[in-house]
Amino acid sequence: MSLRALHLLGSPVLRQRADEVAQVDDAARAFIQDLFDTMRASKGVGLAANQVGDTRRICVVETDEGHSYALVNPVIVERDRAVIKEEEGCLSIPDIYADVERNARVVVEALDERGMARRIEGTGLLSRAIQHEIDHLDGILFLDRVGPIKRRFLMRDWEKQRKGAKGYIKEVVQPVEEGAAKG
Ligand SMILES: [Zn+2]
Repeated sequence: MSLRALHLLGSPVLRQRADEVAQVDDAARAFIQDLFDTMRASKGVGLAANQVGDTRRICVVETDEGHSYALVNPVIVERDRAVIKEEEGCLSIPDIYADVERNARVVVEALDERGMARRIEGTGLLSRAIQHEIDHLDGILFLDRVGPIKRRFLMRDWEKQRKGAKGYIKEVVQPVEEGAAKG
């Protein structure tokens, strides 16, 4: 298992469009495992390649309802017109939250970690997570989907929080399990 360092807002890779993956090979599978491990250690519900400085078109999502998916070359093929506005955050913009409108339901087509074509329907948090992560693969951040005035306030908070910080890389460490021996 290896945990990848997170790229934070300001790192140019977050603004890149990730590239299609030609083949889901062992290297891609190992990378997917790293994404899952890093997401879980960070207590996220999704993580995209850009967020760990990689430009392969791969993301993972895992929500409380027990849905866990690796999405390679994901494409949203259906969206409900209905939207839900709910609070969202991002591992690349820690401690900043805002209400974001997302389609209530989406259907995504992608390859899974075995390279098999999958069609996944998402509602609720899963729908939100899929849209958030595919946005990452297109170089889009959730703050781009917030109104300009609200965004200006949030950016001020972010800059305050970042004051004195150097670089845009955040190491991820495995959290100590509850009840585990601490030594
Ligand atoms: Zn994010």
